[in-house]
Amino acid sequence: MDHFYGGVEAGGTKFVCVIGNSPNEILAEERFSTTSPQETIQRTIKFFKTKKEELKIELTSIGLGCFGPIGLDKKSSDYGFITSTPKPGWKNTDIIGPLQKALKVPIIFDTDVNAAAIGEGKWGAGKNISNFIYFTIGTGIGGGIIIDNQPVHGLIHPEIGHILISKNPMDQFTGKCPFHENCFEGLASGPSIQERWNISAEELPPHHQAWDFETEYIAKALSIIICTISPQRIILGGGVMQQLHLFPKIQSKTIDYLNGYIQSALILENIEDYIVPPKLKNKAGMLGAIALAQSAVN
Ligand code: ADP
Ligand code: ZN
Repeated sequence: MDHFYGGVEAGGTKFVCVIGNSPNEILAEERFSTTSPQETIQRTIKFFKTKKEELKIELTSIGLGCFGPIGLDKKSSDYGFITSTPKPGWKNTDIIGPLQKALKVPIIFDTDVNAAAIGEGKWGAGKNISNFIYFTIGTGIGGGIIIDNQPVHGLIHPEIGHILISKNPMDQFTGKCPFHENCFEGLASGPSIQERWNISAEELPPHHQAWDFETEYIAKALSIIICTISPQRIILGGGVMQQLHLFPKIQSKTIDYLNGYIQSALILENIEDYIVPPKLKNKAGMLGAIALAQSAVN
């Protein structure tokens, strides 16, 4: 029987389940809303069981890129859990346990953004680059970090959305994060833009002041990241980054903030190849889950 890989992009808003081997070889795909843990996990199990039968295939492994915070330390009792999430009903949820029990295949667990980064590394804008970062700027802000071709976990896992940045003195908005008044996510996520201006980010015209604030906050965060992680490329994805006019603004503002200190031709001469959109577009998450499944085997 043929073997394929499974992937789950487990988001706070929706789950995407997929079976395949690569961007050009996707056998099945299904998306559904994230409801209760019980219902959502059962739907995920049903997808893989039904599709395996229909397609007459076996799964080698499943990659699960998950919203968080999550437990990634295999030696810890919360491994495979969604831990301290503010999402109602999902705190301390064992997600790997029931999937593994029902499906009986190895499940490779990582953050949603690390999975997307692994996908971009394999098939997209991070190809042949050993050290890079994938950001999503959408409902929340998160970043997956690849160092020496491996996703960074560290203490728990990176939470780049919650680095503190200085606010523009003209910005009256108090931030949307329940933990921090001036973190990157609280100031620059899609819902923060909507709450600050009372209009959804999609509907704001390109010349609106909202985009000056957005540019400033993203460029401040990137300057911090460049100085701490020293990435060779930064990929900016997520709904808000569909505003493509932001790219040149962010590129030039980041150069301004670094102010000539980081002497790399990539930044000083080729910034448009340094801060880039994802090549896998809105499929980075689900293809990343497939790439995550393959990462353990390879
Ligand atoms: P999620 O983060 O839930 O996976 P998205 O990455 O699509 O999903 O992010 C959704 C957020 O991005 C919403 O706050 C929405 O307002 C914003 N967004 C989606 N599309 C656009 C767009 N074209 N321009 C600006 N903001 C957008
Ligand atoms: Zn925060």
